[in-house]
Amino acid sequence: DEQVEDFLTAAADPVEEIAAMFQTDALTAMPVGDLLTQAKGELARMSLDMVAALSAQETRSEELANENERLATEALTDPLTQLPNRRSFEQTLEREISGRLRRPDPTSLGLLMMDLDKFKAINDTHGHQAGDDVLRAFAGRLSLNTRRDEFAARVGGEEFVVVIPVTDPDEIQLAAERFRRCVADEPFDTSVGPLTVTASIGVASTATIDDETATTLYEAADQALYEAKGAGRNRCAVSPLR
Ligand code: GH3
Ligand code: MG
Ligand code: MG
Repeated sequence: DEQVEDFLTAAADPVEEIAAMFQTDALTAMPVGDLLTQAKGELARMSLDMVAALSAQETRSEELANENERLATEALTDPLTQLPNRRSFEQTLEREISGRLRRPDPTSLGLLMMDLDKFKAINDTHGHQAGDDVLRAFAGRLSLNTRRDEFAARVGGEEFVVVIPVTDPDEIQLAAERFRRCVADEPFDTSVGPLTVTASIGVASTATIDDETATTLYEAADQALYEAKGAGRNRCAVSPLR
């Protein structure tokens, strides 16, 4: 600013001389002082514009960051129940496994696969809306009973999973039973009134962790679930896998 002012002040006299040489008064039409004031005004306006543009850009990138975060969450969330979805479950299982692969003495990992019993009959009897109510209420109850180190997700229509870190092999059976009871023991509130629902649970856990663990666990829990259904439903079946 100061340099510009010095320059303009210093330039004022020669400019007037040169203008006279060319027999023009165009340059002296506005006194140098006024010119300077006008230039300063212009400079101030430009600065303000720049500040405004910068602040708009900051707001925009904040909006984009928020939008990105919202989309990332959405991609991992089941829209009906707001529980984590299958993709989120797969990511979590992989993360739990790769974390354990790096540890010298990894704790084992357990998986519960839960499927609502005779759920089609609920839809057929009370309508799809009541079925949705049950799924939402089921997810809510699952969340309430999921401990901090456990992870619950909806992986399909009326299929849910819980990933559980296991320190003692009997622990996972207790956890499965805890989930089974929290569903069966109290009816769910729905738009057609309270409905009692049960779930069957397949239980699997592995002591050794390797690259195949995700598949092994999933298949074992699925097989155990099949057995729980065959054995009469509303029960837990444990895979022989250890
Ligand atoms: P099982 O005890 O052998 O598991 O019997 P089931 O009737 O629960 O099993 P089946 O696989 O025959 O039926 C599952 C039903 O779940 C059929 C399907 O219409 C219903 N379903 C899947 N997704 C949804 C959903 O988002 N909302 C509702 N209301 N129903 C759903
Ligand atoms: Mg099913
Ligand atoms: Mg079912």
